[in-house]
Amino acid sequence: MHIDPKQLIEELRFSFQYLSKGLSNPNAFTGLNDTGEWIMSCCPLHTESRASFGISKESPYHCNCFFCGYLGTIDNLIENALDLNEGEGINFLVSTYIFEEKSRTFDMVDYIDNRRDKYVIPYLEESKLVTLKKSRSKNEVLFQSGMSYMRGRGFKDCTLETYEICVDTKTEMLVFPQRTRTGQLRFVQKRKIGNNYHGAKFINEGSTIKKDIVFGLHFINKLRTTTNRIKRVRMVESPTDCMSNYQIGIPAVSINGRILFRNQVRELQLAGIEEVDLMLDNDKAGEKGMQDAAILLDRAGLIVNRVRYPSFPVFKDSNELLNAGLLDRLVTYNVNLIGAIFK
Ligand SMILES: [Zn+2]
Repeated sequence: MHIDPKQLIEELRFSFQYLSKGLSNPNAFTGLNDTGEWIMSCCPLHTESRASFGISKESPYHCNCFFCGYLGTIDNLIENALDLNEGEGINFLVSTYIFEEKSRTFDMVDYIDNRRDKYVIPYLEESKLVTLKKSRSKNEVLFQSGMSYMRGRGFKDCTLETYEICVDTKTEMLVFPQRTRTGQLRFVQKRKIGNNYHGAKFINEGSTIKKDIVFGLHFINKLRTTTNRIKRVRMVESPTDCMSNYQIGIPAVSINGRILFRNQVRELQLAGIEEVDLMLDNDKAGEKGMQDAAILLDRAGLIVNRVRYPSFPVFKDSNELLNAGLLDRLVTYNVNLIGAIFK
């Protein structure tokens, strides 16, 4: 079996950032350094600025922190770092590698040979979302303040209903349900209401496995076998950007960040998408994300375009353009036309 420890550390860093402890240990899984025998990074189990934590480059990929002395197997480390239950570390490995390449999948099957029954990617019970929706009855005022915040960002009630946006009045956060392509609830993203808040802006509840999740894709997937099949989507960063485009009649999906993963590309293809209009945030990180995404999508055989932001004034994302009344007036161009950057 082949695990690329560097790639795995990238995945772990991606998942770690969503945890509340990700805020107190922002260096975890950063500062990569290849010693020949180990891939070193900063330890996820304590804060540090120098990489003391290593994953062995050889099977069975032991993990060892030379600072705190942690010693464990890779699946246990994943469970400890991501606060998963026993056995879920394997799920994380499988979901990371199962969609990537067939050979890796089968190697992984060998690895976990006697744990075949634990293959299912964890999901979030639909009843959890129902409970969150019902929490409205405990504090209608807070619910309304959440909804009016969203209306203030330009959203109509029908858009909010379509995407099942609600308020968890217990944690006082807006709730964005995140579903798989086939509609299964995987996790909910919670966001503080408004722009003045203390502590974490986002909290997630549910499965930590998110790399195959494309927000909004389950609506498109449903149409796949109908005459209304959608073959082309705008790809944006956040759920609110996705909803902004939906509201003006442009099919869109959000990749929940600026990194497009292969698992997400596969889901797009399974939903029947053939052409993607990239429109990540209008900043440095978004630009890098779009360049990486263009390569990945192009290799997967999709047609890749980019949506041009107006040069002045500067708009950050789809939601700002929605509010400026410009979101449906943007120019899209094929990235092959400017080939040099992407090829
Ligand atoms: Zn350590």
